[in-house]
Amino acid sequence: MSKFWSPAIESLVPYTPGEQPRIANLTKLNTNENPYPPAPAVTAVIQAFNTERLRLYPDPDASTLKQALAAEFSTETSKIFVGNGSDEVLALAFMAFFRQPKPLLMPETTYSFYDVYANLFAIEHTKIPLTSDFQIELDNYPSENGGIIFANPNAPTGVALPLSAIKTLLERNRDSVVLVDEAYVDFGAESAASLVDQFPNLLVVQTFSKSRSLAGLRIGYAIGSAELIDGLERVKNSFNSYPLDMLAIEAACASLSDKNYFEQTCAQIIATREQTRQALETLGFEVLPSATNFLFAKHRELAGSELMAYLRERNILVRHFSKPLIANYLRITVGTDTEMQLLIDTLKQHPAIET
Ligand code: PMP
Repeated sequence: MSKFWSPAIESLVPYTPGEQPRIANLTKLNTNENPYPPAPAVTAVIQAFNTERLRLYPDPDASTLKQALAAEFSTETSKIFVGNGSDEVLALAFMAFFRQPKPLLMPETTYSFYDVYANLFAIEHTKIPLTSDFQIELDNYPSENGGIIFANPNAPTGVALPLSAIKTLLERNRDSVVLVDEAYVDFGAESAASLVDQFPNLLVVQTFSKSRSLAGLRIGYAIGSAELIDGLERVKNSFNSYPLDMLAIEAACASLSDKNYFEQTCAQIIATREQTRQALETLGFEVLPSATNFLFAKHRELAGSELMAYLRERNILVRHFSKPLIANYLRITVGTDTEMQLLIDTLKQHPAIET
């Protein structure tokens, strides 16, 4: 509390990011980072970077990256927006599109940043419960709304919607912005990016943090109609007109240039995920179907908080959310095969887990 804070800041409950430990020797399965390094082409451009260039401002339009992304999605640069991680892109979208007289709709269980942004920008919002099997049911989203946001695949559940369900929603919801947060889409879900030409109210947000191993450089982007992209640019230019630093722009372009590496690492993570899922089931866990680089799992008998603490004591970090609906679940990032074997072996040593 401070007398200098505005009332809105006083009541704000900020987002709590997953722990970034300062000690070594931890197996870090708590923030959905990619266990593999970025593509070799990324290392090459960073190592060859001439620091003398840092005197100058970066390209305020990040045009080389927009061109590379436009080529990737077979679209025009006017339909691409880039920003400092998808968190920033999402925040700008909330400011640009969701401050409406009608409430914003979002799933009750989803990426907790949406709630934080809605409160930050004083946006009235309605949370729609998931089904009993943790699916987003878009038929339950009323047409009277000031916007719709959801993650596909959803987080922290990992469950994906088929593209057909999103298309059906868009067909009946044409007057407000529908934002699909696809942070994890490359691990097995269908992207809605192919629908942006058909639906000028659709904004698809993606990131280089997960499938491209570049969380540390903070690169996110949106694909949408020129009308929506223009709206985002207006807000962005009112804050900080440089979307990305020089290194981020060049690293992102290098990453896009190496399709093989991207596809191989995603396939490896998917294979490891499915092996881990089976192993967890054998140990008495219920695991939701995942189209992401994490698993959402609960043990039939043990509490999530207890298991998280048990693993933490043995230097394995996983994420636990204390919200009642999901309090028994752990969200476990898919690491390397070796890391996942260590997780399984450590769980097997728990006295209450039968092997
Ligand atoms: N959306 C979802 C659903 C996420 O889980 C995350 C990562 N915490 C983000 C967006 C933000 O990712 P970034 O800012 O690293 O692009």
